[in-house]
Amino acid sequence: MPYAKDKVKIVVVKLQSHVPNLRARLLDWYDQQGRILPWRIRPEDRARGMSADPYAIWLSEIMLQQTTVSHATPYWKKFLARWPSVIDLANANRDQVLTEWAGLGYYARARNLHKCAEVVRDRFGGQFPETERQLLDLPGIGPYTAATMAAICFGEPTNIVDGNVERVISRLYGEAAPLPKSKLLLRKLAAPLADPDRPGDYGQALMDLGATICTPRAPQCSACPWNLACRALRDGEPEKYPQKIRKVKPVKFGAVFALIYDDHILLRQRPDKGLLGGMLELPTTTWNEAMTDRPFEYAPTDKNWEKCSGQIKHIFTHFELRLDVYRAASKAQTLDGIWAKTKNLSNYPIPTLTKKAIKLALDEVNRRET
Ligand code: SF4
Repeated sequence: MPYAKDKVKIVVVKLQSHVPNLRARLLDWYDQQGRILPWRIRPEDRARGMSADPYAIWLSEIMLQQTTVSHATPYWKKFLARWPSVIDLANANRDQVLTEWAGLGYYARARNLHKCAEVVRDRFGGQFPETERQLLDLPGIGPYTAATMAAICFGEPTNIVDGNVERVISRLYGEAAPLPKSKLLLRKLAAPLADPDRPGDYGQALMDLGATICTPRAPQCSACPWNLACRALRDGEPEKYPQKIRKVKPVKFGAVFALIYDDHILLRQRPDKGLLGGMLELPTTTWNEAMTDRPFEYAPTDKNWEKCSGQIKHIFTHFELRLDVYRAASKAQTLDGIWAKTKNLSNYPIPTLTKKAIKLALDEVNRRET
């Protein structure tokens, strides 16, 4: 993209003289006001001889993708308590890992988490490799996680860029090109700022700035260590950055079938590859732009299926799903599948979508019985 190349050169040259100042201001702010997080080693911890645990950092980074700190933290604690090392995690049964992950979403991450732990155990003797390049070769570790781990755990001055950082950088430089087209440009603009002496602290400081000060709405510019240099602030409308090309999410429709026998419900395992791979689900129709005319062709058995009142809505990254839920009682556990005890559903790898559908079906049964 010639336009990006020329533009980066001009902007970087113009701001080069500010770089030491920007780094120093950000790190000063981080030393005093950076977040305290359970997996984080802060400068004062390091002064006491502590160092970052690559396993703990890796777990936190994978869990935090698409998830808030407050939602991910109990999962992080649970995983570390149950599997204190990457070898323990590698030795765990994958279904147990998926079960503990249930509720965090994006289940490919859980499958890759387990696969990655196995590779670290088998190829690296239980120690994560120490360079960004090597980390990138591990299952489920993308550019952001590799850069973050290399900087925080191994002191490599990498260029850490996620959605928060893109927002901060687009505002700092007043970059008007819209996302996602401007991703590469923002990455190039961020690169010269990374601090070679404190790469981990710099990366974490930038993440904190994006998460707590330079927020999508109502950024607290008066408290920002970069406010003197920020072009978006100077232009008077920081919130307008980053600009985005908005896409309307398509809506898909489907139906699921809750077959209930006594206090058990019939579930089946989704194929390993693809959406919600390896997780359990209620038997379902395909999901299409319009509801199929013949949903019962997908039902696990011929029954008098009753439609539950209400509909499940679930947002995936690329589409919104609306599901009708049908329920029926079974006289025996004759059908193949997993007959899960309805009181012990937390012992199974069941994603939030399926939990919502099961709840709708069971609530309706209970309502009718009372
Ligand atoms: S001054 Fe405001 S808009 Fe600019 S980087 Fe700081 S918080 Fe973000």
